[in-house]
Formats: sequence, C-alpha cells, structure tokens
Amino acid sequence: MRLTRSLLPTIKQNPAEAQIASHRLMLRAGLVRQVAAGIYAWLPAGWRVLRNIAQVVREEQDRVGAQELLLPTLQSADLWRSTGRYDAYGPEMLRLKDRHDRDLIYSPTNELLIADLLRQSVHSYRELPQILYHIQWKFRDETRPRFGVMRGREFLMKDGYSFDLDHAAAVRSYRIMMLAYLRTFQRLGVQAVPMAADTGPIGGDLSHEFHILAPTGESQVFYDAGVETIRIGTDDVDHTDPGQLDRFFTAVTTPYAATDEKHDLAAWEQVPAERRREGRGIEVGQIFNFGTLYSELVGLQVAGPDGTSIAPNMGSYGIGVSRLVGALIEAHHDDAGIIWPDSVAPFRAAILNLKQGDAATGALCEQAYAAMPGRALYDDREERAGVKFADADLMGHPWQVIVGPRGAAAGTVELKRRATGERQELTLDAALAHIA
Ligand code: ATP
Ligand code: MG
Repeated sequence: MRLTRSLLPTIKQNPAEAQIASHRLMLRAGLVRQVAAGIYAWLPAGWRVLRNIAQVVREEQDRVGAQELLLPTLQSADLWRSTGRYDAYGPEMLRLKDRHDRDLIYSPTNELLIADLLRQSVHSYRELPQILYHIQWKFRDETRPRFGVMRGREFLMKDGYSFDLDHAAAVRSYRIMMLAYLRTFQRLGVQAVPMAADTGPIGGDLSHEFHILAPTGESQVFYDAGVETIRIGTDDVDHTDPGQLDRFFTAVTTPYAATDEKHDLAAWEQVPAERRREGRGIEVGQIFNFGTLYSELVGLQVAGPDGTSIAPNMGSYGIGVSRLVGALIEAHHDDAGIIWPDSVAPFRAAILNLKQGDAATGALCEQAYAAMPGRALYDDREERAGVKFADADLMGHPWQVIVGPRGAAAGTVELKRRATGERQELTLDAALAHIA
C-alpha cells in the first residue's frame, strides 16, 4: 500500500485512556479505534495482523486434522433454555429479541450449539472422532472491559470442539490440541506456557491455560523457571503416533506450572527453591476436557460397537485471536514502538522515500514497491525523514528500506532490521534478497 492512499492514522502523543503498552501502541500505530466500551473497529493494518494470526491458527488446526466450519454469532435462545444454560450463564451473555419477539443470544461460546449439530448428524461410533473449529466473533458483556483488545466485549476467538467415543480417546484429542497449540504459539513468535488450570463452571478434570509471561498479565501464575527456556521440538512429533504424543505431552506438562486457582503447595515445595517463579501471565488460550456433560445436556448419543447408546466424550479448545494482537505487542515492543514477529507483521517491509519528489529516489522506491507486491508499505508522504523513521519504528515492520538521494545516485539503499536496529548499505536486489 502507498501511505498517502491508506487509512493508517498514526498518533504522536500517548492516548490518555490507555494504561498498558500494547493498548497505547495499537492506538498510536493506527491498528484499531474504539467504537464503544470493549468494541473495536479494526483498521487496515490491524485487520492484516488479525488475519495473519488467524491464518497461523487455522494452518496448525488443519495440520492435526481439525475441520474448519463457521457457526453464526446469533443463536436462538431455545437450546440454552431447554438445557438450563440460559439462566446459568449470567449477565455476561448478550440477550436480544427479534421483530417477532423471539429470544436470541450472541454466542459467548458454542459447546451447546455444536453438540446439538452433532446430535442431528452423527449416529455411529464409526463417525468418531471429530474435531471441529471455527474462528468467529464472540460477545461477552465483561464487567470491566480494559487494556484495549486484551479484554474486549466483542472479540475474535478460535473455538474448537472434540468428540470421542470414550475418555481414553478424548485424552488423545486433548493431547493433539496441546501439540497444535504449542506449534501455533511458536510460529507466532511467543512462548506461551501451558499451565494446569481450573475447569471453572464447565466442570471436568483436565484443563490447561496457555500464558504469555508479562508483568501486565491479569492472572497470577506459579512455575518452575525451566519452563521459560524449554524448547520442545514440536515439528518432529507425529500426532498419529500414540507413543510420540505421550512423550511429548509428558515433557511439556512435567515442569511445575499452574495458575493460582490450581496452585498446589505440596508440589510447589518439590521445586528447588532457586527455580520457583511467581509472576503474571496473559491467558491466550485454554483447553478442556469435560466428559459427557454437554452430550448429555443435548441428548447426543451414538451407537457403540456392541449396539448400546453412548454419549460422546467432549473437549473444547479456545484461542484468543484478537487478544493475541495485544499480547504479542506486550511481548515485542520497545520505546519506539511495536516490533512485529515476521509471521504476523501487517507489512513485511516499509519503503521510506527520504526525498519525495526527487526523480532518483522515486524511481528506486517504485522499483522496490513493485518487487514486493502486497507485502510492502511505501511511505510516499511529503514528510521529513525524521517523521518517516518514527512512524516506521512505531508501526513495527520487520524491515525498512530507506532510500535517500545519496544512495539512490549510487544505486544503493539502506536496509534496517527493526528488531536489532542493525543497518546495512546494499544494492536494492541484495536488500530484497534479505527481506525475502
Ligand atoms: P478470561 O479468564 O481472560 O476472562 P476466559 O477463561 O473466560 O478468559 P475462555 O472461555 O477460556 O476465556 O476463552 C478462550 C480464550 O478467549 C481465552 O483464553 C482468551 O484468550 C480469550 N478471551 C476470553 N475472554 C476474552 C475477552 N473478553 N477479550 C478478549 N479475549 C478473550
Ligand atoms: Mg479461560
């Protein structure tokens, strides 16, 4: 995109309403604007980041055999009423009426709806297992929306659901999702630590939350320092091989790591004192197994191998896609602005024309722009170099191609890597090779 033709409204001053770095930077870099409390408009650069994160999530779900579908944001309240969940959910659920005075709800989560869909279409154990997911907006009327997109009321979530014949098979699906999640976070350029977690009102016995360790996190977490540095080679794990899956799962869940609800003092005492860490975490995902609870609520049953009816064992798996935009910035920024991981950056490179109107810099910039179709932001404004440098650092593009008159005369550009600040003088071709 050309900056002069784009809606990329950067702000120099710190917005007074923002308390944490990611919220400030998302407003300043022109990624989002608040429309109502906890409800945001995603401007073009912010939408690109959100789409990039969703795409990584999607690819890692697909890779382990989960199937993508799309459920609606609005549902009839009937299913929630008939299963007793309508009153149980509380005021976080947005309830509306249509013109015929029928009750609707805006989905805060979809266990019921998906279990009911399977009730209608799956009848035999031969059709299991199934893992289904979608990436869709949720609404929860949070009492205190805050920290920008980190705790919104409308937010984008990947929610997935597994259906298995029995508990052992459900545990396998759970472990496969653990693998998919760690691969996802690795590709997004963050360390998200799986922590033993409370299952909350949903019930069940098995749950992990994934936390990015950051002082601005809302959760209190306890962990063995070893979890900060372990790197599990998730690429080598074949999710269809039960032995490999078990070894992987044991390796990632053995070091002590728990949220405060699950903090276990006896186990904590076993961690050598010098390795005990207590800190804050941002919850970017959670996985659950909750057994047959929802299958029973909606009357989902399949015929088992011996002909008896069996209620499938279910799990649910969430990733906060829009929260991740903020969480990634919390993990990757400096005083000058955002430092996007390559995998999610809205633009791979910015092209900075330091002398707009000059024939030589203009020609070189156009050449660079044409060589990176759809992947570069060309700063073609009539602005001082200092303004262009500051905005490029603020927006956090992994690379900057800086084109000044002296270099242009010699046929060179300056290539800056945002993460390290390293600069090199190169021919345009050499710079493009680095960026690619
Ligand atoms: P929290 O404890 O932060 O309120 P939760 O445990 O209620 O979240 P889940 O039902 O586990 O949330 O939803 C799955 C994921 O969706 C969470 O791990 C989180 O990343 C994200 N999420 C939940 N609530 C919000 C919100 N209000 N704004 C943005 N993301 C959210
Ligand atoms: Mg949760």
